[in-house]
Amino acid sequence: MTWRLEVDTGACIGSGICASLSPELFALRGAHAEVLREGIEPDEQALEAADFCPASAITVTDGGQVIAPRP
Ligand code: SF4
Repeated sequence: MTWRLEVDTGACIGSGICASLSPELFALRGAHAEVLREGIEPDEQALEAADFCPASAITVTDGGQVIAPRP
């Protein structure tokens, strides 16, 4: 099972929270975050980064289904 990580750079406000929580998955590049790996093994940190993103700019999908941010 592979999850996919995406950052909507149009929504990202560059808070850096994702890169602080999961530096192996996200990095700040200028004013926006980028994903370092789009396809990942299931990883709770990815879900938490999506949940904590203040701009709801991070999406985690599993087989095309959105699994984070969680409601
Ligand atoms: S936590 Fe969200 S708003 Fe902050 S840098 Fe990451 S993607 Fe951008």
